[in-house]
Amino acid sequence: MGKIAGKRIWIAGHNGLVGSAMMRRLAREACDVLTVERSRLDLTRQDDVADFLIESRPDAIVFCAARVGGILANDTEPVPFLLDNLQMATSVFAAAHAADVDRILYLGSSCVYPRDAAQPMAEDALLTGPLEATNQWYAIAKIAGIKLAQAYRKQFGRDYVSAMPTNLYGPGDNFDLATSHVLPGLIARIHAAHERGAPSVPIWGTGTPRREFLHVGDCADALVCVLRDYSDAMPINIGSGQEISIAELAALVAEIVGYRGALVFDSGKPDGTPRKLLDCSRLDALGWRPAIGLREGITATYRWYRNTLERRAA
Ligand code: GDP
Repeated sequence: MGKIAGKRIWIAGHNGLVGSAMMRRLAREACDVLTVERSRLDLTRQDDVADFLIESRPDAIVFCAARVGGILANDTEPVPFLLDNLQMATSVFAAAHAADVDRILYLGSSCVYPRDAAQPMAEDALLTGPLEATNQWYAIAKIAGIKLAQAYRKQFGRDYVSAMPTNLYGPGDNFDLATSHVLPGLIARIHAAHERGAPSVPIWGTGTPRREFLHVGDCADALVCVLRDYSDAMPINIGSGQEISIAELAALVAEIVGYRGALVFDSGKPDGTPRKLLDCSRLDALGWRPAIGLREGITATYRWYRNTLERRAA
């Protein structure tokens, strides 16, 4: 959409991991950031969303709102991952078009690509093969969102784009052991084992899957670049190239926490997709590069987590 300065930008989902990072990042731009609390606007209610958009007149929507969760939550309670994400997507896209909002940046995920896609995964791998079973529910909803962006672009010439971030982490993440993604899960579990002086800590799965991680501050920075400079029907991948096995990641978290007990792999828990590395040539072509290394990012996130625990305990 070109310049961001002077624009009115609605961050849908501003309290989440990505949304709150976008709030921090856009505070450095001369734009007007709009937000609305969840208690005031239910994003699955299209008419209410349209009323909000007609009243607040954003130039662009950054669609960060999503029902997200880790591998176990997705695998065992699939309905909200499919239903809530589908409902939010249909409602926000339709309301935005009705209210004549011409720019949406819709956020997806690297899990939209086929389980056995060639690595690193380019955007055109979308819909070339079957999905990973554990997160197919979330993936199908996100693919529907990508298709909505493409359909409004094709039929009405709307400037709606989709970005696919890799596995994200950082301050404001969900550290709940049952529902979190792997990195906050490992931080919370290894920290608790360290505090208790436990001789060992369970790590889900075999430890062999490989994942790419991007700090959410870097992701927000990339999203600003995409918002400004990217306009295409094809989604754009947002990754770091920093790939690591779950076993190596657990060892790195243990080192940062200072935990010296044993890491015991529980192969009764699902591994998920074997590898998920994004091809970020499109993002490279925009001139964007990540700035936060994995060790540095985890160290800062762990500090944030401990401070949060201390604040809650006080
Ligand atoms: P995925 O990237 O969609 O598979 O989702 P996750 O981030 O939830 O899981 C990534 C990998 O980390 C899987 O192989 C999990 O089995 C493994 N893992 C190891 N320990 C944990 C943990 O404490 N929480 C989660 N969510 N995953 C874990």
